[in-house]
Amino acid sequence: MTDSKVDGVNLTAYQKCVEMAHNLWWSWRPMLNEMFRLINPARWRALDHNLIALLNEYTPEEFEQRIMELSLQTSVNIAYRRFKEYMAERPLWARQHVGVLGSRPVAYFSLEFGIHESVPIYSGGLGILAGDHVKSCSDLGVPLVAVGLFYDKGYFRQQIDANNNQVERYVDTDVNTVPFEPVYDKDGNKLKVHVTTKAGPIYAQVRKLQVGRTSLYLLDADVEENSDENRELTSKLYGGDSRTRILQELVCGVGGVRALRALGIRPGVFHLNEGHNSFATLEAIRILREETGLSFDDAAREIAQKTVFTTHTPVAAGHDYFERNLVEQHLEPLYTALGLNLKEFMALGRRNPEDPNEKFCMTILGMKLSRYANGVSSLHGVVTRRMWHGLWPDKREEEVPIGHITNGVHVPTWMAPQIAVLLERYVPNWTSDSIDPKVWSGVYNIDPGDLWETHFALKKRLVDFARRQVGRQLRRNNATEAELEQAGRILDPNALTIGFARRFATYKRAYLVVQDEERFDKIVNNADRPVQFIFAGKAHPADNLGKAVIKKILEVQRNPKFSSRVVFLEDYDINVARHLVQGVDVWLNNPRRPLEASGTSGQKAVLNGALNFSILDGWWAEAYDGSNGFAIGTGLTHVDERICDERDGKDLLDTLENVVVPTYYDRGSHGIPSKWIRLMMNSMATLSWRFSAHRMVSDYVQHAYLPAAGGLSVKMPR
Ligand SMILES: *Cc1c(COP(=O)(O)O)cnc(C)c1O
Repeated sequence: MTDSKVDGVNLTAYQKCVEMAHNLWWSWRPMLNEMFRLINPARWRALDHNLIALLNEYTPEEFEQRIMELSLQTSVNIAYRRFKEYMAERPLWARQHVGVLGSRPVAYFSLEFGIHESVPIYSGGLGILAGDHVKSCSDLGVPLVAVGLFYDKGYFRQQIDANNNQVERYVDTDVNTVPFEPVYDKDGNKLKVHVTTKAGPIYAQVRKLQVGRTSLYLLDADVEENSDENRELTSKLYGGDSRTRILQELVCGVGGVRALRALGIRPGVFHLNEGHNSFATLEAIRILREETGLSFDDAAREIAQKTVFTTHTPVAAGHDYFERNLVEQHLEPLYTALGLNLKEFMALGRRNPEDPNEKFCMTILGMKLSRYANGVSSLHGVVTRRMWHGLWPDKREEEVPIGHITNGVHVPTWMAPQIAVLLERYVPNWTSDSIDPKVWSGVYNIDPGDLWETHFALKKRLVDFARRQVGRQLRRNNATEAELEQAGRILDPNALTIGFARRFATYKRAYLVVQDEERFDKIVNNADRPVQFIFAGKAHPADNLGKAVIKKILEVQRNPKFSSRVVFLEDYDINVARHLVQGVDVWLNNPRRPLEASGTSGQKAVLNGALNFSILDGWWAEAYDGSNGFAIGTGLTHVDERICDERDGKDLLDTLENVVVPTYYDRGSHGIPSKWIRLMMNSMATLSWRFSAHRMVSDYVQHAYLPAAGGLSVKMPR
């Protein structure tokens, strides 16, 4: 690099923007988002905020012209300089905290990554969490490389048809609009790796996305060396049968370790984000044996000492189990290369190694081949120890060596820029990187009126977004003019607005609030104190119960009694999530306890001053302190689901009617709800730092990565 390149003096605005477009860092800098939006607001929206696609619409000369017209030259120069500074800097946090990780990075494996809406390789919470993890590692300077798969069709896009059904569409992503960096092998060809199955090799091209300072390597099986069938292997996320699934996991885990090796990256720690990636350990063991001649057991012990395993679900169906046949059919070369026969291999994925009928469980493999395993909230830690107690039969439940690190969210990604401006103005020493409770207690310095105005503006933005979105949906379904006109008036920015958005898995009980329709009607349609609901979320294509719940919500929306008070937004993704968590007054979550491992959407709401109103499950069980939001129930559950639903549903409406609504509508002199604003401040001051991804990553570094990299020995399960 020449000096002029570093300074960027000789680069045009176009060249600077193209360079910035090839690093997703811009996606969490509000100033850059705003700048790119200004270039062409309508196209920006239509292109799903895809920066490369936007740039592709201009010749360099036209682009330069547009930047001049808008007087954006200085903004581009400042943004570019910040970008170069960010990339060149080694953060203080890293200099103080990462120690031995410096020379041997963490290799972080995940089957999905939710970085930005323009890179659709995520489905929901797990992916968003991985994306936030990667971004925080970049900000904090934690040496980590991430590994996953590139799905050109991604996860399905959801449409709602005229009969209230979810319709699933897969959209082909144009790879030329994904900001990939080329990855070459030592001969200068595109880097490809392969994994061997009984039916022959499967090849995958290694692609790379730069996420700030963190590199994300994505394997893509759509290459000409593969059969047509295998080319489709990595086309959809969670779209195939168990054959597709086991092969995807093989490509990601084994192929991922091979890719790192080909790149000359020698990880000091392996972090498996969910059991999907447990095969990575096997390839690491194979390589170690090849290099040292160790026995399988000794090599496995050594790799396990470097491996961290995170489990994310207390729902049994959330764990991968593979039939013995499937394992034999596809993995024979893998276990043969490890010096194992089928029986010995199956034992690695079984609770009881001797039981020939047990399937092969990826979570068990991950637990057996890691030194540190964790759940993702305090309560989930307890549930996970109970769930997997059988792996440590001679320990008492509370001694089962599974800990917890509670999930958190990446603050600059989820906090509305308008809120960040307020914090910068009123809170001494605030930065989006801060995880210091003393700094965050400065939230109380914010002028209550300013906080309320800012929140209100964001809420209006959400209402506009919802009207536009519903209008689009109705036009597609050939709605009448009258219906379209009505859609332009739905929702009232002055009404108490409650958001509920998540996967429509049945345990999340989206129907709970509308269960007692008569009471719901009374609360929602109170003329003086109206309440409105915005729902969003996808049901897995195979989940008919989940789809039925979506239909139920849509039927409530279509009921004229509720049509401007209940809205379902289709195609829940990062963009929809951002609008929702930044605009609502209240974030509702009512899972069947204790099935929500953590949940993170409510943490995003906290950053924007929305109040959580939730069952004491997941993160909320350890977050709620009586004055930083609202609780549904007391944490008590019932084995009979009907009784449990009835009880929780009643408690939900009681608290809504008697506490939430009156507090919201208790207005002082200038129409300002002082008590409510106090709760907003309590929520931000007590929760923002605790449930941030920076705090989460710092916990992983301290409790998981450093001990693993230091090779301190721990006791493993059998
Ligand atoms: C944050 C987020 C999730 C996860 O939210 P939960 O609270 O875990 O349900 C899922 N999908 C999207 C698009 C998100 O942004």
